[in-house]
Amino acid sequence: MSEPLIRLHKLCKIYGQAGATQNSDEPNSAQVIALDNIDLEISAGEYLAIIGPSGSGKSTLLQMLGLLDRPSRGEYWFDASNTATMSSNELSDLRSRRIGFIFQSFNLLNNSTAQYNVELPLIYAGISGRRERAQQLLSKVGLAPRLDHLPGQLSGGQQQRVAVARALANHPAVIFADEPTGNLNQESAHEIMQILADLHKQGLTLVVVTHDPQIAAQARRVITIVDGKIQSDTLTAQHAPPAQAADAAPNPELVAASLREAFTQLENPRSSEWGIAFENFAMAIKSLGANKRRTALSALGILIGVASVITMMALGQGARQSIADELTRLGSNLLTIRSGNNKIILHGGRRSNPLSLADSNALNDLREVGVPLTRVEASVSGSVQTSRGAIKATSKVQGVTSEYPKLYAANPTLGKFFSREDDQSRRRVCVLGQTVFRTLFSDNENPVGSEIKINHLSFLVLGVLPSKGSSAFGDRDDIIAVPLQTAMHRLLGKTQVDQIAVEVARYEDIPLAMDSIEGLLRRRHGLGPSKENDFTLRNMADIQETLSSTTKTMTVLLGLIASISLLVGGIGIMNIMLVSVKERTREIGLRKALGAKNRHLLMQFLIEAVIISMLGGSAGVLLGVGASLGITATLGWLVIIPPAAVLGSLFFSTAIGVIFGFWPARQASELSPMEALRYQ
Ligand code: ADP
Ligand code: MG
Repeated sequence: MSEPLIRLHKLCKIYGQAGATQNSDEPNSAQVIALDNIDLEISAGEYLAIIGPSGSGKSTLLQMLGLLDRPSRGEYWFDASNTATMSSNELSDLRSRRIGFIFQSFNLLNNSTAQYNVELPLIYAGISGRRERAQQLLSKVGLAPRLDHLPGQLSGGQQQRVAVARALANHPAVIFADEPTGNLNQESAHEIMQILADLHKQGLTLVVVTHDPQIAAQARRVITIVDGKIQSDTLTAQHAPPAQAADAAPNPELVAASLREAFTQLENPRSSEWGIAFENFAMAIKSLGANKRRTALSALGILIGVASVITMMALGQGARQSIADELTRLGSNLLTIRSGNNKIILHGGRRSNPLSLADSNALNDLREVGVPLTRVEASVSGSVQTSRGAIKATSKVQGVTSEYPKLYAANPTLGKFFSREDDQSRRRVCVLGQTVFRTLFSDNENPVGSEIKINHLSFLVLGVLPSKGSSAFGDRDDIIAVPLQTAMHRLLGKTQVDQIAVEVARYEDIPLAMDSIEGLLRRRHGLGPSKENDFTLRNMADIQETLSSTTKTMTVLLGLIASISLLVGGIGIMNIMLVSVKERTREIGLRKALGAKNRHLLMQFLIEAVIISMLGGSAGVLLGVGASLGITATLGWLVIIPPAAVLGSLFFSTAIGVIFGFWPARQASELSPMEALRYQ
């Protein structure tokens, strides 16, 4: 005759064994031989009851038969294929398409409706029309009015009926039921057994573990197990021999039809993978939604990380931009000479201040010997107290010449700048920066002609300078311009100047001008050939380069620090995912028992991790952009939000979800169904 549906050959299951299939016949004390050399054949269409005392190995045998666990030794042939040679995915497939399993303890997903519980195996098998099918099955077991109930809202008997409907979902060839009535009262037990008996009449192969002799009596064949061995294998009186009980015998054509139907229901597997991906997405959303606070907290790390990366980048870019703007306004033909030399200061030498007005005049005279300079401007600066009436403030004062507006494109917006005359006569006149103007005067007041006090001396206000804006480096409108000589002799008590700015006629003349200036100053300061310069001469290109490389370094550093918080956020996600995997180990086992493959579970948990980090990332982008705009609004700093930082940190946060979610997700996916289901 043809091969039986199921054939066990010398099957053993030993619990507590280190190497799963070693050949030692001597069990140590920690080991339990739950199944001891079982030989068994079950044909399609049989109704088999397994009975025996508690602890005899009935459940273990059924789990082996249901492919929920691998045997330690021996062979299990299902439909003429050796299951030992199958991969875990092939076993999932077999469970999904051919086997329905009913657990003693129902094992329903407690946070899902009855209908969804029945749909689960249909999802993993990629069967279409699963809603209708789940509804059909549930009404078949008398639960049509309970579709949307959660397991907690159902009685034990109703829960077991949901479990029966679920086991039938994929048109299995065989149903294994482990004490399906064990947790039920007599009435419910009778109903469940009636449903199963009807199914058997329609051609289903049925294997039921029970301790109830009445239930066993309904089966056509009864196996008794004692201490992991088959003690007896008998046909029950009222049905034996099966061949003569024509009414009860399964109709082989129905069996075949049921199998055929099961397979034609399976869609093209490629499209069903998309369906499962979509389901996984929905499941992930649902599970994250069920743990809102935890989801929010784990997204928080990423949120802070992304927000700080964006804000730092925006600030850094803004600072660079405002420096660049300022430098282009100054033009590229400007040279600056400052007293002192970085190296000398570094070596602890006395800070010298050798630049004098005479130097400035001598530089001016270079024009007469043909060096192409257009302007020479000496300046000093210092901090001063200002007041007007009761209003007092501290500002920066700059002593400059009348060339200042031309050199720095700073023609007064109100009034006028002071003249050469004012400078030479050391007059007490001043031009106010916007911030000083706003501090000392009210909105509609015209300051021109008013008197203010600078370090207790009266100054006449001549005009107001245009706004230069501010950046992370400070407010450049908080200044007062006064004539150079006034500042030196009347306000700051300086005999030397702090800086000399030189404008060169043409960009190409810069090297020549720099050489001449350096030579002249070295001669005037009496520096021998071996001495270092006691001043620093730089052109705008140098300055621009230094400043932009400094701000670049700063931006990169800040960005790096911010990225560390992203990393920490990722580790947070990994922790949460590990906890979540541990918490849901039973759920994982159940999904696998119902036919989920490793990749489906990997995908489910990975999607969760990615959603958490994408949520955190998007909220972080909003917060970062908001913070940057807030800084502009409150401090007036220029910030530029680089699109690359926004896209980059979104991408990065998603990647973090994938990278840090992968390990927990993999752990979840690699558990064997029974291992996971046993987990407490
Ligand atoms: P039954 O279902 O017939 O009551 P089981 O198949 O559940 O019996 O158990 C058979 C034997 O295997 C028992 O002695 C039990 O203690 C043991 N056993 C069952 N599961 C495990 C396990 N996961 N680890 C170790 N021993 C187990
Ligand atoms: Mg049991």
